[in-house]
Amino acid sequence: MTTPTTAEACRSSSASTAVQIDGFRGPLIGPDHADYDIARAVWNAAIDRRPRLIARCIAAADVAAAVRFARDHDLEIAVRGGGHNVAGTAVCDDGIVIDLSAMRAVRVDPAQRSAWVQGGALWGDVDRETQAHGLATTGGIVSHTGVAGLTLGGGVGWLMRKHGLTVDNLLAADVVTADGERLRASADEHPDLFWALQGGGGNFGVVSAFEFRLHRVGPTVLAGPLLWDASDAAEVLRFYRDFVRDAPDELGTVVRFGTAPPLAAIPEHLHWRPVLMVGLCYSGPIERGEQLLGPLRACRTPLLDLVGPAPYAGFQSALDSTVVHGWNYYWKSTHLPALRDDLVDTLVEHAFSGSSPRSYAAMFHLKGAVSRVAEGATAFGNRQASHAITLDAVWRPGEDFGDRDTAWARRFFAALGRYREGVYVNFLGGDEDPGRVREAYGDAVYERLVDVKTRYDPDNVFHHNQNIRPRVLADRS
Ligand SMILES: Cc1cc2nc3c(=O)[nH]c(=O)nc-3n(C[C@H](O)[C@H](O)[C@H](O)COP(=O)(O)OP(=O)(O)OC[C@H]3O[C@@H](n4cnc5c(N)ncnc54)[C@H](O)[C@@H]3O)c2cc1C
Repeated sequence: MTTPTTAEACRSSSASTAVQIDGFRGPLIGPDHADYDIARAVWNAAIDRRPRLIARCIAAADVAAAVRFARDHDLEIAVRGGGHNVAGTAVCDDGIVIDLSAMRAVRVDPAQRSAWVQGGALWGDVDRETQAHGLATTGGIVSHTGVAGLTLGGGVGWLMRKHGLTVDNLLAADVVTADGERLRASADEHPDLFWALQGGGGNFGVVSAFEFRLHRVGPTVLAGPLLWDASDAAEVLRFYRDFVRDAPDELGTVVRFGTAPPLAAIPEHLHWRPVLMVGLCYSGPIERGEQLLGPLRACRTPLLDLVGPAPYAGFQSALDSTVVHGWNYYWKSTHLPALRDDLVDTLVEHAFSGSSPRSYAAMFHLKGAVSRVAEGATAFGNRQASHAITLDAVWRPGEDFGDRDTAWARRFFAALGRYREGVYVNFLGGDEDPGRVREAYGDAVYERLVDVKTRYDPDNVFHHNQNIRPRVLADRS
């Protein structure tokens, strides 16, 4: 069991706010509290919002009390899980943050192959506990990403082609609704709400705990990156296209376009060199994986081959230090079809022309089990797309790459315009056209989400998110 630490840290400092919430046991953090600036910061330092109150919950009853308080006082609500969303929707100006970051417990039932996970847990918490039993479920590829936001948007990761998206492994969720009621949603209880939680984001309530199906994974997998010089990118990508098309579901890959990050595992002379990096994780038998990867390794001599047997939980945090908290980020994103030659050329033409050495693009290969679930069976849209790409401008506080690389991400996105096949809602930024939320779902799923929203949150209490408006409001816009 992972024990919460943030709550303890916070309780030990003085609770300086005068506000009281009936039945709320966690710390209440207002602007005059010593921890206010830490508590309002999210992963993306470009987001600088000042809520009136941060209600750091320590149990589901706190969540319900905070929702009721916010409604009674007509306060804007933001909900925080891991605080990782690039759009910064976990924090609002002048309202209340219902903060679950102290609720990180994970309990594994190895016999049932399931895990109960609190709504503020991070993926590192889940991987650590589940891998102790040789089990895992699909999670994000950076261990400090929140479970809640990621799951509610869908959840893509190394294991998805074999075991489905995170939402395909969701068994149940404990939800606090807009009127402060506590419900359990599953295939049998409030099935409409359960369906909406499988991709519809934070629109329908606050999830205090999730239950996931687990699978046997590792604990040793064949994983790591292959790095090629950027000048080889087009040739390698064309090979990669055919290679992943026929690859077994056990192989998950993410292509990263950018410079080689200064990780300890990467020799110093390669640091910051423009490279095409194919990260991969093969979760079948190691020897079979070695055979499978032979042709990819041989398609063009890599600058570096770090693929080898590795603990799955450790590999899940390999990229953590390349996307740290407190840097500035701006993302554009789209799904893409299979990599036709002209699409490869477009990717290579734009991917390496950012100014900041930290800016990059990351392209997840989808298909496999993701595309075998029927469209509309969950609220996750666009299941037939081949790839999901994010174009990520990254600059540290004080660096002046922000404007140039934001323009780079936008230019790159525009160049991909004719290939767009929907988008993953969790990769949307904070300045998107309103139509992009609908694009994330497609018309049929979106309209059904509007119906569920109308039933469970008719006043759009939960709107500080990639918002799905209830019917009466949606029809007015
Ligand atoms: C570096 C990085 C790597 C990423 N990698 C992946 C990846 O591999 N796979 C992937 O699928 N996604 C990935 N993402 C995207 C990720 O899924 C989203 O950023 C997601 O929103 C993160 O969840 P969070 O709980 O940290 O979000 P937060 O910022 O805390 O919250 C975002 C929104 O989620 C909702 N929310 C959060 N907690 C709750 C809750 N308990 N109940 C109800 N609603 C809630 C709210 O609407 C909130 O506004 C990555 C993001 C980053 C920044």
